[in-house]
Amino acid sequence: AYPNHGRIDGPIVMIGFGSIGRGTLPLIERHFEYDARQIFVIEPNLDDHTFLAQRGIRHVEEAVTRDNYRALLSRLFPDGKGFCVNLSVDTSSLDIMKHCRELGVLYIDTVVEPWAGFYFDTTDNAARTNYALRQAVRDEKARNPGGPTAVSCCGANPGMVSWFVKDALMTLSRDTGRSDPMPHTREGWGRFMQSLGVKGIHIAERDTQKSTRHKRIGTFVNTWSVEGFVSEGFQPAELGWGTHETWMPEDAHSHATGCRAGIWIARPGAITRVHTWCPTPGPQFGFLVTHNEAISISDHYTVGDPARPDYRPTCHYAYHPCDDAVLSLHETFGSGRIQATQHILDENEITEGIDELGVLLYGHEKNALWYGSRLSIEETRDLAPFQNATGLQVSSAVLAGMAWALENPQAGIVETDEMDHLRCLEVQRPYLGPVEAHYTDWTPISERWTKFDEEIDEADPWQFKNVLAS
Ligand code: NAD
Repeated sequence: AYPNHGRIDGPIVMIGFGSIGRGTLPLIERHFEYDARQIFVIEPNLDDHTFLAQRGIRHVEEAVTRDNYRALLSRLFPDGKGFCVNLSVDTSSLDIMKHCRELGVLYIDTVVEPWAGFYFDTTDNAARTNYALRQAVRDEKARNPGGPTAVSCCGANPGMVSWFVKDALMTLSRDTGRSDPMPHTREGWGRFMQSLGVKGIHIAERDTQKSTRHKRIGTFVNTWSVEGFVSEGFQPAELGWGTHETWMPEDAHSHATGCRAGIWIARPGAITRVHTWCPTPGPQFGFLVTHNEAISISDHYTVGDPARPDYRPTCHYAYHPCDDAVLSLHETFGSGRIQATQHILDENEITEGIDELGVLLYGHEKNALWYGSRLSIEETRDLAPFQNATGLQVSSAVLAGMAWALENPQAGIVETDEMDHLRCLEVQRPYLGPVEAHYTDWTPISERWTKFDEEIDEADPWQFKNVLAS
């Protein structure tokens, strides 16, 4: 029997039924009590209509837009109760979240998504950053504190990795012979990370999932949303900017308003490479693709005045997607065109591989600690239907976030750094495969190709200057 995580009163409305929606639905069915006549999926693509109909799920065949979202959601949530699970692209997380809170409905998403057009039509690069998207949600939280719970950015990353950071800090504390009690406030966690000497964090991921079919020219292949990945890949490279950094890229920009935790670089993240490390490959290149958690984690662990902090960790994504996605990006940027055909590798065609997704805490007395999930496609198939390993790391985080929201229904707008990581990981862990801690003595300058001169800071290996590949 699967654990029951509570009762959802009122309708469950899922927006978007793509790779993550398909994987999340069976977990909702498995772990919550609800009224089976009241599950709705709003999805403009008709491909899954039969799949939904066979399960008695009501398919609302519409795209959510700026013009219809209020009327649509008010109609589906007539009684001021229920749960809105937003797993779509091209819909404004902020607008939908605000409306759900007005209706008294719980809300969760996995990204701060804007309305269609934002990513490619906005001309000002600073406005296209995740910093700007996240700050708008933080400003709404400040304007309207408390009230119905809306969980922002609760997927694998952003999401689960914020819970891993806390587990990793407790692990590092124990392994360095300390007996610190677990902090319980934001300030406490910031001082704790500072006291452990952590300079920064990579969200370090290696996806080795593959099928036996080769990628064709003209097709973008990925293990999750192609649209989502291409959109974020074309946003400026972006990172949380730590207090230990002494050098900044020439094309880097900071922000004059908001939390001040991040900078952006005037080039797309998907062609900006960084030196990083994961357990399976060891040293590897990752892409510095912008992500909400890069800013939220740096913000959350800031000590002192945000404008002149005493301490802040650097934090960024360092993503090696599946091999076919690396080839796809190469083709996109080389041709100057986004491929016309998109393909998400599903659990039936993937023959081998794992999604290894963790946090690499670096710069402390044990050098670096990778802490994360190493979930294989085989284990995924045993654990839950309709998804690959990447999908299950995301959908199980959505499950955990929903369980937490039901237990904390008046928490207002929260991001995962602000949630009870122990409770969330308790719900999620059965779906993560091996969750492991790995120490390494690797640094960004320990495995360089020495035939050509590079500008390297030998004195301080963990400077971002050494992490950013030239
Ligand atoms: P997908 O591309 O497979 O599916 C997205 C779905 O949204 C599609 O079925 C599409 O038809 C639908 N859609 C498009 N426009 C819509 C609209 N206006 N109204 C309603 N539905 C609409 O994507 P996915 O892999 O399922 O990812 C879903 C979302 O989750 C994306 O925003 C993605 O960025 C995010 N995501 C987050 C994480 C994380 O770890 N935080 C991981 C993976 C995906």
